[in-house]
Amino acid sequence: MKKSFYDLNYFDLETVINQNNLNGSAAAVLFNWHYKKKENTQCLDNISKSSLAFFENNFDFSLPEIDIVQESNKDRTVKFLFKLRDNHKVETVLIPFNNKYSICLSSQVGCAMNCSFCFTGEQGLKRNLTASEIVGQFIQAWRWLAKNRTGEERILNIVFMGQGEPLHNFDAVKKACEIFLSQHGTSIGVQKITISTAGYIPGLKRWSQEIPGVNLALSLHSPFEEKRNELIPINKKYPLDEVLTYIDKIPLNKKQFITYEYILIKDFNDSSVE
Ligand code: SF4
Repeated sequence: MKKSFYDLNYFDLETVINQNNLNGSAAAVLFNWHYKKKENTQCLDNISKSSLAFFENNFDFSLPEIDIVQESNKDRTVKFLFKLRDNHKVETVLIPFNNKYSICLSSQVGCAMNCSFCFTGEQGLKRNLTASEIVGQFIQAWRWLAKNRTGEERILNIVFMGQGEPLHNFDAVKKACEIFLSQHGTSIGVQKITISTAGYIPGLKRWSQEIPGVNLALSLHSPFEEKRNELIPINKKYPLDEVLTYIDKIPLNKKQFITYEYILIKDFNDSSVE
């Protein structure tokens, strides 16, 4: 099976080009075509025939298929159900504000964290998404906007708050972020990306070194360990106290911030005492 083009960050792409003695400018041309212009046709812009043939023969340019689109008449939110190559499905949501959008991406099919309030958690983890399947959600949603809401195709913020625990699929999420952040790629500002976690410490340990500058959101839902254990079972393995010490170690840039998410559940976590 061919490797997906959308699994390559810019450095990977340059490496492929150098190793195969192709024209060095092909990297910028291809990234520009697929991520800035977001074209779904073959790239014919300033690229040699031999480079083009090499990429066509060795890489797959297909994207997750849009299976269902649901649009809210009230607030114009758009929910996509994407069908993946192996027929698994994941959701992506476009959340509008002032004719611009935040996009909420999925990182896994199902999820291993089993949070008690979450339908995805009930399904268990089916598999990790690849970087191309994460980036593909973004490109397809953007193309849908360009076609269906022409003039509004501006996705300003990316939030990893869809299906899955992003830090449990760290390598693919990291690679997708590298593509989003690349000035040759979608060129999203680092402060415009937020990754939400239930408190998966192995990922938090890697955060500062590997995805510096990206915003973090912690699913808190209760400051009390016992209550949090009920809502987020991995709290038993990675207790909140320990999670917070790792979060405190993240050196924050000027515009970087930590968000704490809290679902209010009546008579459970809506009082100031345990
Ligand atoms: S980590 Fe997120 S997706 Fe996974 S079970 Fe918890 S709430 Fe659901």
